[in-house]
This record gives sequence, structure tokens and C-alpha cells, in this order.
Amino acid sequence: MIPFTYARAADAEDALRRGAVVGARYLGGGTNLVDLLRETIERPGTLVDVTGLPGTIEGTADGGLLIGAAARNTAVAEHWAVRTRYPVLARAIVAGASAQVRNMATVGGNILQRTRCPYFYDPGGSRCNKRSPGQGCDATDGFNRSAAILGGSPSCVATHPSDMCVALAALGAVVHLRSWDRERTVPLTELHRLPGDRPEIETVLEPGELITAVELPGLPLAARSTYRKVRDRASYAFALVSVAAVLEVDGGTVRDVRIALGGVATKPWRAWQAEEALRGGPAIEESFRAAAEAELAAARPLRDNGFKVELAKRTTTAVLEELAGGGA
Ligand SMILES: Cc1cc2nc3c(=O)[nH]c(=O)nc-3n(C[C@H](O)[C@H](O)[C@H](O)COP(=O)(O)OP(=O)(O)OC[C@H]3O[C@@H](n4cnc5c(N)ncnc54)[C@H](O)[C@@H]3O)c2cc1C
Ligand code: SF4
Repeated sequence: MIPFTYARAADAEDALRRGAVVGARYLGGGTNLVDLLRETIERPGTLVDVTGLPGTIEGTADGGLLIGAAARNTAVAEHWAVRTRYPVLARAIVAGASAQVRNMATVGGNILQRTRCPYFYDPGGSRCNKRSPGQGCDATDGFNRSAAILGGSPSCVATHPSDMCVALAALGAVVHLRSWDRERTVPLTELHRLPGDRPEIETVLEPGELITAVELPGLPLAARSTYRKVRDRASYAFALVSVAAVLEVDGGTVRDVRIALGGVATKPWRAWQAEEALRGGPAIEESFRAAAEAELAAARPLRDNGFKVELAKRTTTAVLEELAGGGA
């Protein structure tokens, strides 16, 4: 373990002041960052604990919800407004990790958790452009069963691991950010970057920028929404494929739809192509399958993960059928 200093921020101003120090990192529940410290993959000189910042869940003027970045994952999943108005979010959170991890993990930390690519977690023996820029990527030609089929590049094919972010992407959530000189909002779908030739730069956040909240839009149709996660074990495993979906059907026609995919892409993947293919069309299995095929047309499978293409199509189709049939 590399030595570091620790301070608990009293409020956002205090966090920003302490976070402005070179080598400082914010600390949420620590369920990812502490592992990265132990493995010496991350070596911050200062940890600024932001769990004392607001973690409340409040209604907004447009009928949405504002969730403080320090809200624990469990608190979000159990909140009555989340469970009844955004069930896709509650289900996605509960599908992740374990109860103990969810009790510790914060919304801000969940969004910024790092990939689970096994080569990334092997600083002693593997090449990884994300960990050591320019070193090369052992996943591309190595064991890549869990790697991305969408959004990858020759430099990196690591998936984004979060379940919660897939639901946030489908819901059109907006992330509130704060730095010394400004506050801004960024759609969740634009917060994470594709790897391109700089996989070590994972988000559009600037150094020292703080996530203060996540806002869910007022979206009555989200009351009919769900999340399905396909994984190797029934619990305590990251997604091979996951689907978050919101569907509104009127007289057999798709009025509106929101879909995002997890486990298959280098960032939480909003399925814009599938949504476009579905809107205004019949809410039947053939349309759902065609929409999934439209989205997966861009898939670029590697040696070990070709199965994800068909799995993503089938899971998307099945989730939409479930919602169209009245399930949620
Ligand atoms: C055994 C195990 C199994 C897991 N399984 C799953 C799973 O199936 N699905 C899933 O989605 N996740 C899973 N996870 C990951 C877990 O969800 C994350 O570790 C957790 O959400 C991270 O939240 P945290 O608050 O602990 O973040 P931390 O570890 O404290 O921080 C993570 C990152 O976020 C940054 N950060 C934290 N808060 C802020 C803020 N407010 N502003 C700016 N930066 C901030 C930190 O600097 C750090 O870079 C698993 C974790 C473990 C240990
Ligand atoms: S896929 Fe990305 S995280 Fe994994 S080894 Fe390659 S560069 Fe590193």
C-alpha cells in the first residue's frame, strides 16, 4: 500500500478545495477505489472522503428526482419513488454486487467505478493501455470473453461494469457536476468516453470535478420499465449482457421506448438505433428482434465473445416482449 493522507469533506466547497491538490481523489464507499489502491493500480496522494455530502432523494419541478451523489446504492434502490416510478433503476441496482457492497457504494462512485477487465487488475504481468498508456492491450488477442462488442478500439475493449448506469442511460438521466469556477450538467450517455486511442481518459470530467447529484427526468412511462441481467452466476457476477428498457404501447403500437445495454460495450450503451426502429411500429416479437438486430449490426466480436451478439439480441427481444405483455 502506498501512503496517502485522508480527509473528510464537510461540504462541496471543502471537497473541491481539498480535491484541487495534485494527486487527490474523491472517496465514496471505497468499494472500488480501495481495491485499486491495494493493487497499486491507483496511487493517490490524498483521499477526500465525500460521503458526508448530500445523499438525499428529492422531487424536482418537472416530476423527476434529484439523487445526491453520496446516496448509497441500497437507499436509492429501496426508495419508494424509485421503486414505483423508475423500477428499472431499482432492479438494476439490486442486480449488482452484494447487499454489503450496495450498502457502502455511492451513486457518484458507482458511475465512476472502473472496468473489471482482468488484465487491468494485473499490473505485475499484463499489458494494459488503460493502466499504462502506450503499453499495449493483452485483452485484444487474449482471453476476451467478457470484453466489449460495441464501442471498442484497437487500444481497449474493456466493458463498463456498472448495472446502475445502464438504467440511468435508458432513463435519460443527467449528471450534475461542480468545479471551482462552474456548475454544469452532462447527460449520463455523454459522461463516459469511448476509448479511442486514449482509453485511460474514461469520462468528460475535468481534474478535481465533483459529481454532486444525478437527476432523473419526469418520465411517467418509466413506471413500466425493467432490467434483465444475464451472467455466469445468479449473484455476485458482472453482466455478460444486460438490458434496461422502458416501453409505452398504445393499441398494439409502440408509442415510446428507451433501451440501454450493459456488459457489451465500453460505456453504458443507449440503443438509439433500436429505439428508432421501434417507435410507431407494431409491438410484436418480430419488430423487437429486428430492432435488436439493427442495434447489434455494429457489433465487432473478438475471439471469445461472439456469443454476446446473439445473447444481446435475444435478451433485448425478451425484455421488450415482457414489457409489451404487461410485465414490469
Ligand atoms: C465483489 C464486488 C462485486 C461487484 N459487483 C458489481 C456488479 O455486479 N454490478 C455493478 O454495477 N457493480 C458491481 N461492483 C462494483 C460496485 O458497484 C462499485 O464498486 C461501487 O458502485 C463503487 O461505489 P463507491 O462509492 O464505493 O466508489 P469508490 O470506490 O469510493 O470510488 C469509485 C470512483 O469514483 C470516484 N468518486 C466517488 N465519488 C465521487 C464523486 N462524488 N465525484 C467524483 N468522483 C467520485 C472515486 O474517486 C473513484 O475513482 C462490485 C464490487 C465488488 C467489490
Ligand atoms: S481491454 Fe482495456 S482495460 Fe483491458 S487490457 Fe486492454 S487496455 Fe487494458
